[in-house]
Amino acid sequence: MKPREKFDREGVSEDEVRQELQAASSEDLHFRDGRILYSMCNEPSRLAIESHMMFIEANLGDPGLYPGTAKLERSVVNMLLDLLHGDAGMGGAVVSGGSEANITALWIYRTLTKKHRVVLPVTAHYSFEIAARMLGMQLEYVRVDEQFAMIPEDVEAAIDSKTAVVVAIAGTTEHGQIDPIERIQRICEEANVYLHIDAAFGGMVFPFLARAGYDLRHFDFNLTGVSSITVDPHKMGLATAPTGALLMRDQAHFDAIRQDTFYLSTPSLNSMLGTRSSAGVASAYAMMRRYGVEGYVRLNQECMKKAEQLGKQLVSMGYRLAIKPISPVVCVRIDAEARALDVQKKLREKRWRVSRTKHPEGIRVVMMPQVPEGTIPQFTADLHAVFPLS
Ligand code: PLP
Repeated sequence: MKPREKFDREGVSEDEVRQELQAASSEDLHFRDGRILYSMCNEPSRLAIESHMMFIEANLGDPGLYPGTAKLERSVVNMLLDLLHGDAGMGGAVVSGGSEANITALWIYRTLTKKHRVVLPVTAHYSFEIAARMLGMQLEYVRVDEQFAMIPEDVEAAIDSKTAVVVAIAGTTEHGQIDPIERIQRICEEANVYLHIDAAFGGMVFPFLARAGYDLRHFDFNLTGVSSITVDPHKMGLATAPTGALLMRDQAHFDAIRQDTFYLSTPSLNSMLGTRSSAGVASAYAMMRRYGVEGYVRLNQECMKKAEQLGKQLVSMGYRLAIKPISPVVCVRIDAEARALDVQKKLREKRWRVSRTKHPEGIRVVMMPQVPEGTIPQFTADLHAVFPLS
């Protein structure tokens, strides 16, 4: 379909509108076709969509009008806090996703400390670059080791009197790796510096894999040096987008960004956005209630099984993985950027969508629940056709 150029004077029939929407949607890729292999989003279930639609008009930017929805938000926050070894006395907010949560966290720490430096790993998500540009903060990147995890000694060396916050990752975008947060939090405690954990992806993966017996690094509020956590229900939590969350050990820290809102139903708000979609809150609530902890344990085990199968298959074909998967993210090394781009392009011609990684050069896939198991032999055969090993 061609984008419309003009706003017509008169409206058209509902059927005409539907046909136009259908035409646009038919050009999109859909998870149901099983070809999107890199997204961390999910294909919403019927219950997720129903709950989303039930709260389609609610606006948590004006919570006094929606006390029921506000309770759903607090329930989602409390369930996430419980999952991540926090308690209901801690703070939290549902936001549009990991980016907004990370930007909000940096905004809070800049305001609290009046400092501008952020120490973070080179594997951090680009949302921190956006935050730094918006907030006038300075990013001090530290190296990662051969497993693409932060080097604690480098964190220690990078912290100085101007550091507002250290960021570490639980579930890096490229490799699904967890930084050595237990050591980093000790360094932050000793230096009296805040520590924000970006667990946008890992927050609803690792706690469940740990319950299933996987031996994983700790990263959550169990560690006293962890000040806040980003976690996205719209990734492995199976909620509809946009649904992320920012959890704060100290609820009062949200007051750092308090804004008076005299014309609304509550006197102030502690968020970046005004009108806030509440449909995602409802779907997160619905999915978390429906699945329960054990449901997510099974879901993550299934995804992990697919990732392990894919990893094994690739290794048996002679490919090198960036790391042995510890989450459903699998990254195949490719020797050069041009080559990785070429492999990505050729896979696209075969209708697969994968993403590229930079550290090291490679391509990456994420075995989300919607990726069918039968994908593995087809995908690996196609990868071999476009990127044969000599
Ligand atoms: N943080 C990490 C580790 C991510 O992997 C992502 C996205 O994949 C984000 C933050 C940003 O999340 P969103 O796209 O929901 O804003």
